[in-house]
Amino acid sequence: MFWCEWAWLDGAPRAGVLVDVDGPLIRDVTTVDTPPAGARRLPGLSLPGLANGHSHAFHRALRGRTGGRGTFWTWRETMYAVADRLDPESYRRLAAAVYAEMVLAGITSVGEFHYLHHPSGGRYDDPTAMGAALVAAAEDAGIRLTLLDTCYLSAGFGAPAEGVQRRFADADADSWAHRLEEFTVDSQRVRLGAAVHSVRAVPAEQVPVVAEWSRRAGAPLHVHLSEQRKENEACLAAHGCTPAQLLESLGALGPGTTAVHATHLDERDIAVLGGSGTGVCLCPTTEADLGDGIGPASALAAAGSPLSVGSDGHSVLDVLGEAQAVEAGQRLRAENRGHFTTNAQLAMATAHRGLGWNAGRIAPGCRADLVSVALDGPRLAGVPMAAVPVHARADDVRHVVADGEHVVRNGAHERFPDAAQRLGAVIEELHGT
Ligand SMILES: [Zn+2]
Repeated sequence: MFWCEWAWLDGAPRAGVLVDVDGPLIRDVTTVDTPPAGARRLPGLSLPGLANGHSHAFHRALRGRTGGRGTFWTWRETMYAVADRLDPESYRRLAAAVYAEMVLAGITSVGEFHYLHHPSGGRYDDPTAMGAALVAAAEDAGIRLTLLDTCYLSAGFGAPAEGVQRRFADADADSWAHRLEEFTVDSQRVRLGAAVHSVRAVPAEQVPVVAEWSRRAGAPLHVHLSEQRKENEACLAAHGCTPAQLLESLGALGPGTTAVHATHLDERDIAVLGGSGTGVCLCPTTEADLGDGIGPASALAAAGSPLSVGSDGHSVLDVLGEAQAVEAGQRLRAENRGHFTTNAQLAMATAHRGLGWNAGRIAPGCRADLVSVALDGPRLAGVPMAAVPVHARADDVRHVVADGEHVVRNGAHERFPDAAQRLGAVIEELHGT
């Protein structure tokens, strides 16, 4: 049992909340003034577990190392150089340390958009070796993982994969599906999902194979969508329509699909995404870092798309901050305030549905996640309790319970008290510095 000094229940802060946990699930939630004997006390305000809807764990190795200049396309060259150096052993160590950083930030589920499948110029004996490294990393760090095994086939609209991209590429979508069939996951913390890297990297005639696999498996399907204008222009030239409209015509949209970024959309794209109930995962700190642009988040929500957020390239790893940045971006775009309420922002930061988990609420039957935010620091001094979720940041997180396990205590990761040193060491090793 965990007793929360305050907890976010049914859309509002409540004092003295007792959460009774049965294995990885919440059994019961009641309010009592004082902690009963045997209950662990969580100070501050406990929020539901946070969800990181879009991650490429290895991009964390680029933080501070890309010079802050150029474009998305020049940044991608640096990213490819890091991708080229990873093997299953270093991938596991890097991902475990990155996932530990996520857990310390209150993240209890991560959607890993994984496309680093093969060694340079060949195949691993076990074709799932790199995915298995991520599964082991998630187990190490105590985070739930939705492994979005990504279909990546071409350099762009049919052009063959080049250079490092060959590490990402399968022969076709059937070969991609074959690898997933080989993957056996024996963990309550891990589930498989599918991803289409983008309409650039998966030829149109191959997309339905991936969509069909995800439908048959009841697994989430994610896809990078319209992050860059150049992708829209190339799609228009190749298919005479936008990426969103192409995906719709291929049967790849719907409530089981999450479109990542959705930055450069026209009115019809917004109607197609919202009308089909397709989720949209916004990654505003990465989109700012890469100079992508600001997407139409308010219009997408109004059209019917559930919103989530992701830290993507991890230039910042702060899911509460991502949701706050979505609101900030809409204010900058519209030149007015108040696009998303506190609960709407918290819903983005706790959107586990698109990753296939019943989590994100402190309620019976949900995964037993609690993220306690300290209220005694200068940032939150004088902030009304009801406004804490839209002002708290990752470094205010003090305790994290994930699947009933108290994995962060007093700001330290229980399994990796040396999380920062581990992360620094593996990144320096990868860069040779
Ligand atoms: Zn991405």
